[in-house]
Amino acid sequence: MTEAEDYIEKFTKEFAKKEFDVDVNIEFMNTVSLWGQNNKAKSLIRYSKSFIEANKDNKEVLDDLAIHECCHIKYRNHGRDFKKLCQSFGLVSNHTAYRKDVKVPEPKKYYLYRCDSCGVEEKSMKYVNKKGACSECCNKYNNGEYDEKYRFKLVRYVDENEKENNM
Ligand SMILES: [Zn+2]
Ligand SMILES: [Zn+2]
Repeated sequence: MTEAEDYIEKFTKEFAKKEFDVDVNIEFMNTVSLWGQNNKAKSLIRYSKSFIEANKDNKEVLDDLAIHECCHIKYRNHGRDFKKLCQSFGLVSNHTAYRKDVKVPEPKKYYLYRCDSCGVEEKSMKYVNKKGACSECCNKYNNGEYDEKYRFKLVRYVDENEKENNM
């Protein structure tokens, strides 16, 4: 367990106990776009490892997500009452994603594309047959007009989870 995981676990348990008088269990999951999940029936809150890793240096973001998940102890959905409750604990809104300082974790599985002209690389979660051209190169050499020459080419499919497992 990382230091940040340890931190959010402690914070969540204390917050849930203090504000809702509930003992919650914490687990960590390998999701990228799902940052947190509250399974009320099991008193279980789960957090995305990659989200915590991406925001480990910003405790306010971690607190924000924890408070959001704890508010689901009272309300399941993200409706008006839920939002009010979140705001009563000082959150800007009902979604951590609305914070300006939140860092969105990068996917660990992606298609890697490259512009052969300048070497810049781009990640894409979806496979795209015809990806657009490199805007840098089009601006630099073609007055910003699209040119087939600078089209991104698929390099390979990358699965960083696999890499980690193999090590
Ligand atoms: Zn939620
Ligand atoms: Zn380029």
